[in-house]
Amino acid sequence: MDLQFDTHNRYNPLLGEWVKVSPHRTKRPWNGQVEKPHETALEAYDPTCYLCPNNLRSGGIRNPDYQDVYVFDNDFASLLEDTPSGEQKNGPHGLLTAHAEKGRCRVVCFSPRHDLTLSRMEIPSIMQVISVWKHEYESLGALQMINYVQIFENRGAIMGCSNPHPHSQIWSEEIIPDIPTKELQKQKEYYQQYGSAMLLDYARYETDCKERIIHQDAHFIAVVPFWAVWPFEALIIPFRRGIQSLSELTAEETESLARTMQQLGIRYDNLFETSFPYSMGIHQLPTDAQPYPGSMLHLHYFPPLLRSASVKKFMVGYEMMAMPQRDITAEKAAQMLRTLNSVHYSQGGN
Ligand code: ZN
Repeated sequence: MDLQFDTHNRYNPLLGEWVKVSPHRTKRPWNGQVEKPHETALEAYDPTCYLCPNNLRSGGIRNPDYQDVYVFDNDFASLLEDTPSGEQKNGPHGLLTAHAEKGRCRVVCFSPRHDLTLSRMEIPSIMQVISVWKHEYESLGALQMINYVQIFENRGAIMGCSNPHPHSQIWSEEIIPDIPTKELQKQKEYYQQYGSAMLLDYARYETDCKERIIHQDAHFIAVVPFWAVWPFEALIIPFRRGIQSLSELTAEETESLARTMQQLGIRYDNLFETSFPYSMGIHQLPTDAQPYPGSMLHLHYFPPLLRSASVKKFMVGYEMMAMPQRDITAEKAAQMLRTLNSVHYSQGGN
């Protein structure tokens, strides 16, 4: 079997799921060169943006004249602290089951600059964002009702993100949601079977074979994982030691994570010379004080783009009904990203 030609199914050990890879469908060679999109440059300050400093938010609250990172409670929170507890089971054998849930949702603005993105921010500024994430993870996680903290960034209109102002969200809640539950379980099973952390073993394997590496830093790597579903999906993982949460990062590791995020972001933007849309999420230790042996801090990046700034991959048809599928291999996608300029195209790269 030739992984770069023959149709095969790849196993995702984090989820225990499979992805179908059909590389022969990429018939004509394609090096990633496409027409440059027409992008309208953003202003550093937008008077209509509810995240810019000094502007009024819809809840009637005015943002302070913040200078770096700014955090506040989401005005349209999905989870609320005062939701009454409750459970309902209706229908035959309780088929229609529902549980009430409490939580708290926060918004983290990365910068007062409306026109910036993480990929164009300096390392110390990205480190500041990471340290605010860490503080929020700890303070929300310390609340009695909170057992899980999900930090994520939704970037780009194509991802349904209505505001280009650089920001992330934090949803903290009572339950541990399905995807992290599955990943924690798989990592635990691996640890019990082999006595080592799955993602640490995986990261070290990738630093040896280098086939899927996009960027290797002092403590972290960015790779297109072997089992990637989205064409340019990426995973950031530490490879020197087992790290379970942002709380365990040393200053040096925080800097390395910041640089890895920046480098991945630059390659993404340079690929189609556009502000690359994606959903990024940080998976780390739940805050329910339970042990999760073998679990590792990692960042998932799921970008929707396929061939250009406007051609998106759709998960439809067979993928909705059966399993995800891709044409371009993870190795090819990694090679394309790795060989791009490490300087952002807006700053003379490419
Ligand atoms: Zn994960």
